[in-house]
Amino acid sequence: MPEPSLTAPSDDRRRSELVTALAAVRARIAEVCASVGRDPRAVTLIAVTKTRPASDVVTLAQLGVRDVGENRDQEAAAKVSEVAGLLEPAVPRPHWHFLGQIQSRKARSIASYAGTVHSVDRVDIAARLADAVAARKRERLDVFVQVSLDGDPARGGVVAASLPSVAEAVASRPELRLRGLMAVAPLGADPDEAFTELAELSARLRERHPSADAISAGMSADLDAALRHGATHVRVGTALLGRRAPVIG
Ligand SMILES: *Cc1c(COP(=O)(O)O)cnc(C)c1O
Repeated sequence: MPEPSLTAPSDDRRRSELVTALAAVRARIAEVCASVGRDPRAVTLIAVTKTRPASDVVTLAQLGVRDVGENRDQEAAAKVSEVAGLLEPAVPRPHWHFLGQIQSRKARSIASYAGTVHSVDRVDIAARLADAVAARKRERLDVFVQVSLDGDPARGGVVAASLPSVAEAVASRPELRLRGLMAVAPLGADPDEAFTELAELSARLRERHPSADAISAGMSADLDAALRHGATHVRVGTALLGRRAPVIG
């Protein structure tokens, strides 16, 4: 199967690349779900469009992709408004997922476009987001608490011991809806082990927050393992859109 290319080809060629890649990713999700007796309709595919132009988001939306993910506020905010200007009225607007580390001063901006945030890992960030939702009088913001599976919070995520307090900070605010847990498999780790641990943390979270039953896990490289361990939201960039240019800085 040819990989989507890095360079910007003509619109038609790009569109057909995205059609092919999207079909392949959907087939992969269906196949893994079938192998473990899960319903693929219970899995939300989030197209991670960071570093990609708004035109890719528009094409994906035209192809029926509803969920789009970004990890940097500045890029996301610009893309959201560009996409809104480009989309034909008949095509449903994407639901924007914010996946990156959140600086406190960005909470207001993120709350202006995101429907779901996957990367809440501090009590004060939960409070800032809730305040921003209240100030905008917008609908509730869906929140995943990001957990660090290697105990090194440098890459984002709360360590397991502090997870209950962050979950409580989200659940205690009516402006937020605690959806569940998000994690990135640690570099070099066995994804099956990492996602087994995540599933255990999720089960523990549900003892106290029964409706927080979603699991955001799985990227292009480890999507199959994540689905085997109960992921309900997979975040796929490279397998859909091609390899990204390395990020400098
Ligand atoms: C970039 C990114 C992804 C997608 O990664 P791919 O390997 O390109 O599929 C998923 N989740 C997060 C948090 C990301 O930053």
